[in-house]
Amino acid sequence: MGVYDEVYAVCANCGERVYFQSKAGDCSMGSYSPDDVPIAIAADLDGDSQGCTNCEATVLIETIPEPIKTIRMQATTIIKRGRLT
Ligand SMILES: [Zn+2]
Repeated sequence: MGVYDEVYAVCANCGERVYFQSKAGDCSMGSYSPDDVPIAIAADLDGDSQGCTNCEATVLIETIPEPIKTIRMQATTIIKRGRLT
């Protein structure tokens, strides 16, 4: 069973789409642009290369190191026993 997710990049030489397949994610046959790749898939594909089927150039895909400036937080309200009537 060939179940995977894929990231599609564009060959800078000819503009053809180049597909990178990964079995690292939830394998839901998702298709992601390079700007929006789930972390598990990005880690799996980092440094991979594929030949462009149109011009035979080699396309390399790498993660872009970016400092994380914000993160989501969650607040939970805990009600003390006896305060609810
Ligand atoms: Zn190409």
